[in-house]
Amino acid sequence: MNHHQIDGVSRRDALQRGLSAIAGVAIVRVTGSSAYAASNQLAKTAVQYADVGNVAGKDCDDCIQFLPGKTANDLGTCKIVEGDISPHGHCLAFSAKPKS
Ligand code: SF4
Repeated sequence: MNHHQIDGVSRRDALQRGLSAIAGVAIVRVTGSSAYAASNQLAKTAVQYADVGNVAGKDCDDCIQFLPGKTANDLGTCKIVEGDISPHGHCLAFSAKPKS
């Protein structure tokens, strides 16, 4: 192997690393934009959200999608439904929290 070839190999390596770095940035960008897309939440009407659920034990505060407010009685938010969400609300997308 003469000096020229060694140089060529290391340049290819450097180029490869450069491309990987660029690919890494691209992945971060894609992830970022899909996180942004995830903020396009469902309308309350689309999931028939009601502030007061009429199904015992299936309130928003029993749902894995619920993000509580400051206290257990404050309005919270939902990972998939837009706007303020009552801990006592309910919607079609209800999904029970696993019992801990
Ligand atoms: Fe409430 Fe529906 Fe969100 Fe569950 S998915 S927290 S039931 S609004």
